[in-house]
Amino acid sequence: MSELRFTALKKLLERKTLNIEFSNESPTSYFGQNVFNREKMQKYLSKDIYNRLMNTILTGANLDRKVADQIAAGMKSWAIENGATHYTHWFHPLTDSTAEKHDAFLEVSLDGSIFENFDGSVLVQQEPDASSLPSGGLRNTFEARGYTAWDPSSPAFITNKTLCIPTIFISYNGEALDYKTPLLRSLEALDKHATKICQYFNKDVKKVFTTVGYELEYFLIDDALYNARPDLILTGRTLIGHGSAKDQQMQDHYFGAIPQRVEVFMQDFEIEAYKLGIPVKTRHNEVAPNQFECSLIFEEANLAADHSLMLMEIIRKTARKHNFRALFHEKPFKDINGSAKHTNWSMLTDTGVNLLKPGKNPMTNIQFLAFLVNTIKAVYDNADLLRASIVSPSNELRLGGNEAPPTIISVFLGEKLSKILDELEDRLPTDILSPEEKTEIKLDIGKIPEILLDNTDRNRTSPFAFTGNRFEFRAVGSSANPSSSLIVINTAIAEQLHKFYKDVEKLRKEGIKKDEAILQTIRKIIKESKKIRFEGNGYSQDWIKEAEKRGLKNILDPLTAIHIYNSEKSISLFEKHNVLSKNELNARVEVLTEKYKKNLQIESRVLGDIVINHIVPAVVKYQNILLENVKSFKSILDEKEFNEIASDRIQLIKDISKSVSLIKKLVEKMRMDRKEANNKNTCEERLRMYIDNVLPYFEKVRYYVDRLERVVDNELWPLPKYRELLYNH
Ligand code: ADP
Ligand code: MG
Repeated sequence: MSELRFTALKKLLERKTLNIEFSNESPTSYFGQNVFNREKMQKYLSKDIYNRLMNTILTGANLDRKVADQIAAGMKSWAIENGATHYTHWFHPLTDSTAEKHDAFLEVSLDGSIFENFDGSVLVQQEPDASSLPSGGLRNTFEARGYTAWDPSSPAFITNKTLCIPTIFISYNGEALDYKTPLLRSLEALDKHATKICQYFNKDVKKVFTTVGYELEYFLIDDALYNARPDLILTGRTLIGHGSAKDQQMQDHYFGAIPQRVEVFMQDFEIEAYKLGIPVKTRHNEVAPNQFECSLIFEEANLAADHSLMLMEIIRKTARKHNFRALFHEKPFKDINGSAKHTNWSMLTDTGVNLLKPGKNPMTNIQFLAFLVNTIKAVYDNADLLRASIVSPSNELRLGGNEAPPTIISVFLGEKLSKILDELEDRLPTDILSPEEKTEIKLDIGKIPEILLDNTDRNRTSPFAFTGNRFEFRAVGSSANPSSSLIVINTAIAEQLHKFYKDVEKLRKEGIKKDEAILQTIRKIIKESKKIRFEGNGYSQDWIKEAEKRGLKNILDPLTAIHIYNSEKSISLFEKHNVLSKNELNARVEVLTEKYKKNLQIESRVLGDIVINHIVPAVVKYQNILLENVKSFKSILDEKEFNEIASDRIQLIKDISKSVSLIKKLVEKMRMDRKEANNKNTCEERLRMYIDNVLPYFEKVRYYVDRLERVVDNELWPLPKYRELLYNH
């Protein structure tokens, strides 16, 4: 048997659950232990400095250098007392991971003495250079510096003896080179416009937060097997591999007993997460074998995004300690469910009201309806941007599969809520209501919480589903930077709330009372956005036709999806709300395009290598064994007997030969097309050719390789098979 696969399987037999003695301490005693949270701020900062920092966190007010110095001093003392030797600005460049560059606290003075240094200027701003991170052309001039600047709204934390300070990453002239900058700007836009609407209902509301709760899905693969699969190592997914006879048909993995080795791994990473203040709540087996999920308790969006990225890193690291590899790729295995990062999204006022939760009286329910229908309308108007926000080569493999929402964006509300909206739409007259009608409607609206209480309606096929007190955007991929879609959702809703405000004010100027103006505008929006609402099966073929009839877009081509970012409509939306400028959007388009192309290029190369260097030689070996066998028969049998006995083997030899030459030809053609694509002038042209010409070879090559896997001697097959990768705890 192939040495690598053989050794891997042997290792697997010897694997044991890590023997970790977990302490009996309650998580409440160490939750946030490694975070410079309010409690530590109060301890390490003077009262005045603490108050000023709090004010900055809440209002975004500037901090002067002196205050920053004192905060830095407090942070340094805390960090050093807790064993930190280094500090780093921690940021989210336009890759899908986080970036950091560590510096020691240690300094040497001119007289040779040693001291620990960390002052306000280092805390507030750094120039990490980081010139190899993607900038989409924003750093092409000689002033091409990149700066990181402190984001006080996400607390600093210690991990691996390093003080990590969450920062934004911008160019010399302030253009965003990361995900956090536009995320913060989008949160500000949403706050501004949502607060105005809230004040129709409660003058005390001064701020609206976006709340987000993530669910992370991932696969766990034993690392010995992982190491025997060059495709998993280099691309995060299997590029070849015949399905296992048993995969997820029985649905017996879903919510099943968590395997012991996995459970210990989960406990281990959860402790790490708790120490960093990351509120991991749920853990369970997912549908696919070896697929698991954890979800986080919702938090303010910026913090939730940081936490989800930190958690992914903790999961990856802890997995290695337990001899696993955690795969966050959206579709590591063909024909088996992929992984998502479900984004549960809502808005919360500083008075503690969840704006997507029906309230206790008609007035709060009108507020609920206002935010609900405005969200629906924002999704309707910006469905194409939402589609763009989830594009990545790995997520494209998942979307529209049998377990993931399609590329058509629609909103699911559940039967009861749908009915309420339909009734509102039908019942309300366009002009002024009679007093009786008003009362009746208010009574109806007042009943909403009762109606929704037993509303356990769930539609897992919808990309954007209302789930009782929030929306769940289910199309986001497991490996994605979470901010990518939040930026779009927040900006789209900010814009829609702004329009809503203008419409209501217009009616009020015409003399219509506030409540009625709001109700009328709600009704108008219900009408206008009706087409995006879909309660049926989002996975069905009928929906594709129906959506087309409704004029909803189904953007299948990823390059088209990427380019939605710099359409005129998107530029004006993002510029209007100061979230992203035209320049920044163009840069993002370039980065996404280039990244997409590189990804396909790597996959194509890896596929070629595996096939030519691993598969073909193994297959030829098997072919030679068959040939020897046939030759031996020939020497002892007469022609008739020989034909009877050996014909199937001869046929097999022929089939195998045919497949091998076909595969080799396809790989060579793919290489030539790749070469041609690489020679194109713009990244857009290169990606176009990769998608149109190179990508189609993947499935063709795989088809023949997977067929060979079925006939070649198991002993000779060089790579761990699906059944081995997926059933190994
Ligand atoms: P399910 O699998 O049924 O969707 P989970 O419990 O796995 O449910 O996930 C629900 C997620 O929704 C959690 O992350 C939870 O914190 C989050 N959530 C609940 N309420 C809100 C809210 N108001 N805003 C944002 N997220 C919320
Ligand atoms: Mg969910």
